[in-house]
Amino acid sequence: MKKRLKPSQKYGSAKKHRSHESTKPSPHQQGTDEQGAIIKRSKGLIKTALVYPNTYGTGMSSLGFQTVYRLANQVEIVACERVFLPDPRQKCRHIKSVETGLSLDRFDIILFSISFENDFLHLVQLLKETGIPLRSTNRNHTHPLVVAGGVACFLNPEPIAPFMDLFLLGEAECLLEVFFEQFQKTEDKATLLFTIEDKLPGAYVPSRHLPILYSNQETLSNFPPATIEVQYLDTLDRVKTTTTITTSQTAFKDTFLIETLKGCPHGCRFCTAGFIYRPPRIYPLETIYQAIDEAKDKTRKVGLVSSAILDHPDIHLICQYARDRDLKLSFSSLRADKLNDQIIQILADSGVKTATIAPEAGSQKMRNIINKKITREEILRAVEKLVTQGIINLKLYFMIGLPLETDQDVDEIVSLTLAIKAIFLETSKKKKKIGNITLSINPFIPKPSTPFQWSAMALESILKHRVNIIRQGLKKTANVSMNFESLREAKHHALLSLGDRDTADIIETAAQHGWTQAMKTNKEYCNMVIYQEKPRAQEKIKQIPPENITRKLLPWNILRHRVSDQFLAGEFKKAEQEKKSVSCPMDDCNLCKICISS
Ligand code: SF4
Repeated sequence: MKKRLKPSQKYGSAKKHRSHESTKPSPHQQGTDEQGAIIKRSKGLIKTALVYPNTYGTGMSSLGFQTVYRLANQVEIVACERVFLPDPRQKCRHIKSVETGLSLDRFDIILFSISFENDFLHLVQLLKETGIPLRSTNRNHTHPLVVAGGVACFLNPEPIAPFMDLFLLGEAECLLEVFFEQFQKTEDKATLLFTIEDKLPGAYVPSRHLPILYSNQETLSNFPPATIEVQYLDTLDRVKTTTTITTSQTAFKDTFLIETLKGCPHGCRFCTAGFIYRPPRIYPLETIYQAIDEAKDKTRKVGLVSSAILDHPDIHLICQYARDRDLKLSFSSLRADKLNDQIIQILADSGVKTATIAPEAGSQKMRNIINKKITREEILRAVEKLVTQGIINLKLYFMIGLPLETDQDVDEIVSLTLAIKAIFLETSKKKKKIGNITLSINPFIPKPSTPFQWSAMALESILKHRVNIIRQGLKKTANVSMNFESLREAKHHALLSLGDRDTADIIETAAQHGWTQAMKTNKEYCNMVIYQEKPRAQEKIKQIPPENITRKLLPWNILRHRVSDQFLAGEFKKAEQEKKSVSCPMDDCNLCKICISS
């Protein structure tokens, strides 16, 4: 097989390479006002296209994507350039990089960074529009190596596995350098794909594994597939996750983002961040101070990012440090039970006018079932404090279709919102100004590697009925608006989250002919994946050997995270008993042992 491991265009030797951080706007449409792009024009470098399978604005809002870009370009032998889905308004749909305008098919490596399953379709579109054969089996040494990573992949890579030569599963800091070294020194693509799993933990070559299909459970009992250890940093002492490129063309316009904590200690049973990133890890104060100092030279706004912002033990010092440097602060999420006067004052001083709180469920029963350890009183108290301090608009996140949910529980979303509105009215009277309450209501989608991974999605008819309960209940309430996520898109999202390799055919059909036809022609399979409860191992399959009994049922069981399946099954049981669980003490796991598989 003719090797194409070496870059197609001869760039001469690495030694003489020059790289510079471009401060002038890039030549191409996307990213015209960027600060911080890295352009390495040099010989013998591995040309890597880092592809975010969505538009520039969406991709550049991803801190994960920006971090992979910086890390890849820190590898001496790599020239990493960004590629996005062309803006639908753009006439020219030539898929090319932002840095040098190089066409996607001219790169040595195409590295997809995927945060959301819904972008799986765009990945297919990008490969097709570039003329690169979609399936790994149809590509040869003349084609770029096609690789994928990102949280959507290390939750469940199987729906796109047939399109990938290789996955890099886990946190980029654990994977990129060794991967590029192996690429550089391995003779050809076939050898790389044959050897990389042994050389790099977290590397996954789908073509080398028997897939876990919902339809081949019996086969598995004879050929239990290997598992891939998803890679996580033990500590965050020597890393940072911050904005690399500032630009006004993203959701975080000219905001310097700083991640303060990875994971979340609270363990809400529907949420992946509370389980796959266990134990939650904290960035040292010094690292965050340095990031704030870096930010102050580039912008006036700093965004603190984490699933559990207020759980960083030094959050007040961090806020004060930024405020002392006259920087405005914004927060990615706020837990009502952790909101105190000091934090609210900092928000108000930063000119924040809208706060976001996520009760997720209306009734205490449902909040216990999902392990959202917040009471109605805590929510109402937080609202009162926020409005009193002048943060007069509120965004509330709720889910419908949760396991064990009833219509009465949805009625309680209405009554909780009305109670919040009453506080609004009362508190705003004194302020002579009333703000808006915006409800964002999303259908529950079961997610891999969470306690609800075995659950089914609620039928569309039930979801429609529950949407109607909320609509009817709040339609006459002034200053309250409701955004309902599309039930149709949620169904697609569920399929892309829970599917096995057979889902790849449906993705390809959907990309070509649209979702309606794709779902129609695969109705039985889609309904099985989306609406059927998945057998929790212990109950169903007695004939599978004990050592495999807990893991070989679900497509994503080819992956191994640190949290154990037994812990997840135990959390599911507690949900059925409407019992809450203690939060992760963020202690030494070897001592704690609550959830980590030994
Ligand atoms: S073992 Fe304990 S400390 Fe470690 S992640 Fe689990 S709950 Fe947290």
